[in-house]
Amino acid sequence: MSGGEQKAHGNHARKTKQQLIDELRSLRRQLTAAQRSASGARIETEAKDLQIKFDELLQDYTLLSEIIDIAADAIISIDRNQHIVRFNQGAQHVFGYSHQEVIGRPLDILLPRQFRAAHGAYVQEFERSESESRLMDRRGEIAGRRKDGTTFPARATISRVVHNGTTTMTVFLRDISDIKRAEERSRRSLEELSHVSRVNMLGEISASLAHELNQPLTAILANAQAMQHQMTPSAAISEETIESISDVIDDAKRAAEVIRRLRSLSERRKYHIEFVDINKLIVDTETLLRSQLIMNQLHVNMELDPALPMVSCDPIQLQQVFFNLLTNAIDATAKRDPPDRRVLIRTSHLKSNAVEISIKDSGTGFKNEPYRNLLKPFFTTKEKGMGMGLAVSKSILQNVGGRLWAKNNRGPGATFYITLPMPAKRVAIPAARQTRELEPDVLHKGMVFIVDDDVSIRKSLGRLIRSAGYEVESYASAEEFQRSEEYVGVGCILVDLHMPGASGLDLQNDIKNRTCNLPMIFITGGGDTASGVRAMKEGASDFLSKPIDEKRLLHAVALATKNSRVAWEQKMQLMVAQEKVGKLTPREIEIMDLVVKGLRNKQIAGTLGISEKTVKVHRGHVMQKIGARTVADLIHVAETAAVNSQAAL
Ligand code: ADP
Repeated sequence: MSGGEQKAHGNHARKTKQQLIDELRSLRRQLTAAQRSASGARIETEAKDLQIKFDELLQDYTLLSEIIDIAADAIISIDRNQHIVRFNQGAQHVFGYSHQEVIGRPLDILLPRQFRAAHGAYVQEFERSESESRLMDRRGEIAGRRKDGTTFPARATISRVVHNGTTTMTVFLRDISDIKRAEERSRRSLEELSHVSRVNMLGEISASLAHELNQPLTAILANAQAMQHQMTPSAAISEETIESISDVIDDAKRAAEVIRRLRSLSERRKYHIEFVDINKLIVDTETLLRSQLIMNQLHVNMELDPALPMVSCDPIQLQQVFFNLLTNAIDATAKRDPPDRRVLIRTSHLKSNAVEISIKDSGTGFKNEPYRNLLKPFFTTKEKGMGMGLAVSKSILQNVGGRLWAKNNRGPGATFYITLPMPAKRVAIPAARQTRELEPDVLHKGMVFIVDDDVSIRKSLGRLIRSAGYEVESYASAEEFQRSEEYVGVGCILVDLHMPGASGLDLQNDIKNRTCNLPMIFITGGGDTASGVRAMKEGASDFLSKPIDEKRLLHAVALATKNSRVAWEQKMQLMVAQEKVGKLTPREIEIMDLVVKGLRNKQIAGTLGISEKTVKVHRGHVMQKIGARTVADLIHVAETAAVNSQAAL
């Protein structure tokens, strides 16, 4: 486009309708004046000037007409009788009529039958009114009717122009079907989200109450049961004391039943796991919150990794997490000046085969609070806060093996991080354990390792298990247990499923590959049956819920230690058998193999190409070194060593 063209174009765009009319009027006046004083060459130059001006004005007019014509909205002009005089392309597109089909016909044809009378009266009333333009309906929304008879919601205004004594009214109308459909979709999503949120919140509250109450209750029950256990008829204890203890146990069990029922509320949470496109879920959540974000003048930027892999999780639950974090960002940035209210959402694929999502805001950040408190139920610094949003989010993520954490930014605000594993991966426990010397006295009733972060649980369960004749060692975390010397002997591990660091499942995963493969009994405060099932699938010996019933616990410990003893004895037999076989020379091993296969001395001599006498001498040494009196003894030792060494491979 040349400089001149650009200028002309700019002029057109700036001219208003009134300016155009004024210019045309002045043009006519000039033309009349020119005609009056007409003379030769002057006429020619003035006519040229006027021609240029006329062309410019024609261009302006054409441009304005085109703008009106191509507008996506329907622009329909009607005369005083409400007959259509102008019908732009937008209107043709919206209503499905061609220009020729509607010109001169009443506006009514564009309205559903039941609204025609009311609309007609409304337009008449508007025509008589003082106002130049207004909404077509007081609610701002009307119904339109297409050529095919279908109706649609529309937003419309009407305006009036009187020119040379003729009144023309123009309706500007927008089909809002798509907007309405999107609003409906948002409304449904928000409803679903808010239902999930209520269920989650209820679940979290009941789970948290159950957990808090379970800890002391487990301790009360276990202590009382330990006392009951230690009481023998010979002890100088009154009947009343024995009865009181029995009452304490009964009452604690009743309270446990109440808690179990309370916990069942939290189990109502259902997870529908599927492969989810995280980027899309983030965009959808931002769309749901769009009007809230606009009203709070919070500007959201996104840097979404286009190569992000799909993650398996429940999309509605995960959307709840994004929703909670974005709502918190709105609150956190509210005190800042509008231009400084910002959020940056990033997604990335970590090398550790996890997906990371960060939500960084420019809000207040966390004051002096250690961030782990934020994730606890009921922690809030807001006047009307519930303190459940982050706790619920943490639970949702934990359920799919994910994590939530946060830190203050270097500048203003805070960043929340989410990681989602793909596939679910557990925390590795780094410290390797030293192996304790195999001691002959390990054949006691068994060693029970208690791994639980709650000190009163460790103490009370310890007492109870000790009172049943086991040795007990307690650890406050899976990491502490892993750092201790490795125990090789009869026993079991009683481990809390959920602990602040590595979980019971992490410990199980780690222990599987160690020399000491003690049976594991899981204990949990929450009704987390899914994790229980997972633990059992991975070979857990049992799964108990707090508060733990004494009989059930001791039975589980007895079974686990029995299995451990069987495994331990097999291990001992293997060691002894391998030690014995290890004393044999290669020739003696050959002879032992053939004896075990059932060959006689003569056959062995033939097979090996030696004399029968030599075979007899070697065979005597084999029986002596193995400590076998009969061939059956020899077969047993040979098979134990061979079978187990194969199993070890
Ligand atoms: P609530 O919003 O009801 O307080 P939440 O569990 O969502 O409950 O949040 C707990 C607390 O964590 C908030 O009260 C606030 O103190 C803090 N918090 C959460 N998100 C942010 C954030 N983006 N910036 C600063 N503080 C936050």
